[in-house]
Order: sequence, then C-alpha cells, then structure tokens
Amino acid sequence: MVEVPAHRTAASHTKIVATVGPASRSPECLAQLIEAGVDVFRINTAHGQREEHAETLARIRQASQQVGQPVAVLVDLAGPKIRLGEIPGGQLHCQAGQLVRFVRSNGPLLPGELTTSYPRLIDDLQVGDRLMLADGTVSMVVRSRSADYVECEVVQPGVLRSRQGVNLPGVKLSVPALSEADTANARWAAQQAVDFLGLSFVRRPEDVAMLRELLQPYPSAPQIVAKIEKPEALQHLEAIVQTADAVMVARGDLGVETDIAQIAVVQKQIVAACRRWRRPVIIATQMLESMTHEQLPTRAEATDVANAILDGADACMLSAETAVGEHPVAAVQMMHRIALATEPFERPYLPSLGEPVAEETPTEGLDPVTEATARAAGQLAQQLGAKMLLVATATGATALCLSKYRFRTPVWGASPSEATLRRMCLYWGVVPLPTAPTENIADLLAYAIQKGRQIGQLQPGDRIVLLTGSDVTGRTHNMIQVHTVP
Ligand code: PEP
Repeated sequence: MVEVPAHRTAASHTKIVATVGPASRSPECLAQLIEAGVDVFRINTAHGQREEHAETLARIRQASQQVGQPVAVLVDLAGPKIRLGEIPGGQLHCQAGQLVRFVRSNGPLLPGELTTSYPRLIDDLQVGDRLMLADGTVSMVVRSRSADYVECEVVQPGVLRSRQGVNLPGVKLSVPALSEADTANARWAAQQAVDFLGLSFVRRPEDVAMLRELLQPYPSAPQIVAKIEKPEALQHLEAIVQTADAVMVARGDLGVETDIAQIAVVQKQIVAACRRWRRPVIIATQMLESMTHEQLPTRAEATDVANAILDGADACMLSAETAVGEHPVAAVQMMHRIALATEPFERPYLPSLGEPVAEETPTEGLDPVTEATARAAGQLAQQLGAKMLLVATATGATALCLSKYRFRTPVWGASPSEATLRRMCLYWGVVPLPTAPTENIADLLAYAIQKGRQIGQLQPGDRIVLLTGSDVTGRTHNMIQVHTVP
C-alpha cells in the first residue's frame, strides 16, 4: 500500500495569501500559519534585502516540508513606486493652502522643498495634476512649474515623513514598468523557481509582456500576477487580465490612485474580468487590518472578506496582519473561518445559453475538448452528489478551469510536477495532492480513495468523478469516470 502523508483537514475553498514579515518569518510561525490555512506566502521586495528574502524562502520551503502541505510563494516586485526623499528633520507639517516645491536638487533643501526617488517627476507633472502622498492622507495640486521645480498647493493638510509614497492619480508617467532592482529580483525569483511574481503598478498589457520576456530564458519561470492599482490599468483591464497568469486587486494603492468611494465597484469589475478570462484573482490589503493589533476584526472587515468571496475571489490576502501584526496566526484562522462560513452561499458560475457571449470566453491555451470535458465532469459530480472531483493535470490548466466554474464538489489535483502542485495552491476549491502516482488511473484512484478515507472526506459508497486524458496527465482531458468508494 502507498504511504499517504497527513493532510490539513477542512481547508476552505478560498485560498489564503499571507505576507511574511518580522512577525511571521520564524520557522515555528511559518509552520503554524500553514496549519492555520495559508496556501501562498508573499515575500514583499519593497521591504528588506535579498539575503533576508532568500532566508525567508528557504524557511517557507522547510515549513511546507515539515507540515507535509504544498504552499506556493509569491515574490512581489516593488514596481515603479515613487517615494519622497529625505525630509530635513524627518517630517514636514503641511497646512491647507501652503505652497510646497518639488525640486531636482540633491543638495541642501530650503524649508518647504521636497525631493522624490523619481527625478523626472518635474518633467511629467502638469499644472492641475493631483499628488496624493503618504497613502492619500496628504494631497496637493500643481499650481505652477519651471525647469527646476513644480510648485504645489496643499489641499488635504497633514504630516509628511521621509520616504513615504507619492501617488499621481491619472498622471502619465514615463517611469519604466521594471526598475533595475525589480529586474534583479525577478531574475532571482526565477532562478529560485518561485511560483508567482507580483508586478506592481501595471499600466498596460505591455508591462506584463515585458516581464514575461525577461523570464523567458528560465525553465521554471514564475507565473505573473498583475497588480491592478492604477486608473490606467482599469482602462486596459481586459487585455491585462488576458496577458497575466493571475491578478491582484491591490486596494492599498488603488484606493489612493482612484476614488476610494468606487473601490468596491472596481473590485467587482476586476473579479468579473478574471472570471471571464479564467484567471485566479487575489483581493488584497486591509482585509482584517484591525487584527494587526486586536484579537478580533471589526464587523466591517469580517464582512469585507465575506463579500470578496461572494464576488468570486479565488484568494484573500493578509498584509500587515501577518507581516508585522501581533496576532498573525489568529488572523489566518479568522480568515479561514469567515471563508468556511461564506462559501456555502457562493454562487456557482455556469454560463449558459442566454447569458452574454463574453461570459463564454474559452480558457486561453486550453484545448476546447478539455474545457468541455471539465465542465461536463463538474456538472456530473454535482448531479451525482460526488464527494470528490479528481483531476490529473500536467500544468494545472484543467484544475484552474474546474476551479473557475465553482462546482460545489471539492477538486483534488494530482500532478507529477511539484511546480504544478504548488501553483494549484492559488486555485479556489482545488486541493493539491502531493506524491500521488500519476502513471496509471488505477493507482491514482487507489491513492486518492485511501487519502480521502484517511482524512474522513470519503466513506464507503461515496462517489468520485475522475477527469483525465487517455494518457492520464496528457494535454487533452477527454475521459470522465465515475467510481464508488469500496
Ligand atoms: C496594495 O497596494 O494594496 C498592495 C498589495 O501593494 P503593496 O503592498 O506592494 O503596496
């Protein structure tokens, strides 16, 4: 009999992404987070140095081995984020109506002068442009400009500190999509066979294409997660979603770059586009923000997580809560509990005749026979009340296709590829099945039944729907079998 490793039970269909930081990077905490429900760890290159990221990656892989649970890693590239330079004295109190100057100078600054990490800012800004600083807590409008400075009037007063972020909603910047540091980090992530690479401040599909070209020489190149946080990205949403492998609704910067009043509606539009193109979508930032310090979230935060799931998100992300928070494990447990409570109310997604044609967009790169067979397998599983939809998949594409239909039946994904097993960690409702034999159907089925019984998911008499190709994990999935647990 094949040895079946232990398995986390009662996993939610919704995947949990947790940002690793000082509060969570100890080996013990990483293992606890996996046990609590984390599927994907995010390493944010906007903070820390390469050595630290490499150590974090090694610890995540070690913790995943220890717990016996595949987890994916998302390395987030900082992207062209503009930051304030050093402010003399560390901070500047901005009063409403005050005039502040952005200057090129690297020399000593006069009172009320500011510099940024983006030297061309002064060339790109026009009179009337808006600047949002320090996460939008301070805002200004450009009133005049010269060759060496732009003068801005403070509209929303507040305190600025050195190196805080500068957002320029609607301003067309000539800053490249990938900085030198991003390029180096992307190459490193590809060499390390990291699973996902987050691209910040995507503006056009060409930004995603540029990163893909950079990754092209690497045999185990990460999949690209396009972070939607700029109004320009919303103008090119369909093309960006189509070009990327996955998408993140990066609400932190999105809530500064666009009108915060529209953020819920924009989130729904992005999720809908990801459904159309069958791309996994992560909802990020401030989901359980108050748990950074408190044991419990606010009612509004618990509702936000639930609503993201009801919108059709594949994954919900924790940022400060797990990176620097006081209760990282409790935050994951809470997100997991909200997911379990909400998922029974999630609407299955079965586009049918009568719905708009765009809803029927076929999965790009997926054989139409595979797509039709996957859909039929899911419907069959639902009709028969099957307890498991078992899919053998080489790249994970068929598992993703099943995932996007939101069938109620849990999908177990078997693959000979470790990378595919980890990739499936981001797919809603898909449980990666490590060490499953995929050479022939009989062994695969026996393994899944043994494991399903071991964790109490399968009982004698339960039905399993198996989706494979004639050659098990081959590219075309054209076989459905229904089995009953003996
Ligand atoms: C965001 O802006 O919401 C986000 C996830 O990006 P970052 O944490 O890199 O600012």
